[in-house]
Amino acid sequence: MYYCGKYPIISKTTLAKGIYSFTVEAHEPAEEAHAGQFAMISAPGFQLRRPISICGIDKEHGTLRFVFEVRGKGTKAIASLGEGDSLDIMAPLGNGFRIPEGKRIAVVGGGIGVPPLLGVSSVSGELCTAILGFRDYSRIILTDEFKRNGCETIICTDDGSVGREGMVTFPLAELLEKGETSAVLACGPEPMLKAIVKMCEVYKVPCQVSLEQRMGCGVGACVTCSCLTVRNGKEFYSRVCKDGPVFDSDVLGGDFHG
Ligand SMILES: Cc1cc2nc3c(=O)[nH]c(=O)nc-3n(C[C@H](O)[C@H](O)[C@H](O)COP(=O)(O)OP(=O)(O)OC[C@H]3O[C@@H](n4cnc5c(N)ncnc54)[C@H](O)[C@@H]3O)c2cc1C
Repeated sequence: MYYCGKYPIISKTTLAKGIYSFTVEAHEPAEEAHAGQFAMISAPGFQLRRPISICGIDKEHGTLRFVFEVRGKGTKAIASLGEGDSLDIMAPLGNGFRIPEGKRIAVVGGGIGVPPLLGVSSVSGELCTAILGFRDYSRIILTDEFKRNGCETIICTDDGSVGREGMVTFPLAELLEKGETSAVLACGPEPMLKAIVKMCEVYKVPCQVSLEQRMGCGVGACVTCSCLTVRNGKEFYSRVCKDGPVFDSDVLGGDFHG
């Protein structure tokens, strides 16, 4: 069940250049929401809404948090809103992450793929290792919040300006080698996700990935966001908005597998 309405923005902060955090008071959507689901957010002056993941859910205070980067005209228009304005959203949409209870997990995020994983870390706490990759120090977001949730937090940067230099897959391989991780949950650029899926296959660890696709409606009607999936050996198209955005990696088709 999702809601469609205008909800007051109660907090707006800038996390890095062009990356904003909005918190809206939205009691009913917050009550329904799970980590990994998303909202379709109306951009003032544009007909099509933009999909943005739910980064934080506070059921007690009835709030949802969104963290997004200005990529083009739509996100720029959303970023022009401020505290006291309303955010016109449809939420919560799609299938979020299934978080294994009482088991050690790893969340692996790249860049603006990090926000939906923060909600997972708030559920799993100390059972969660967060491996978070960014281009350089100036793009780092939310890492302190993962630490506050109790996660072991490993930061990687492409240029080594903070944390480990290089890709998130290096620390992930070391972690999986220990054999204590029961699942990997990932969100980020597609090449990163493909590398993670292949690595999890090698270590035989279940993996869930959140996919990003351009989408029109967000509720499964327009089929703009189709992606190739496989079940019982048969290929068919799924909708990222309705069947995802989070998929078990073994149902993904195309070149996701080794
Ligand atoms: C399920 C889902 C969850 C998402 N969650 C977040 C989030 O939490 N934070 C965040 O910053 N972004 C998120 N995105 C990406 C975000 O929707 C796009 O950046 C946004 O729609 C771009 O709109 P625009 O009008 O600003 O850009 P446009 O002018 O339409 O495009 C600008 C650039 O963004 C790229 N782009 C457009 N749409 C998408 C898309 N759907 N996915 C990836 N790249 C796109 C284009 O290729 C282009 O390079 C998510 C996307 C999906 C599908």
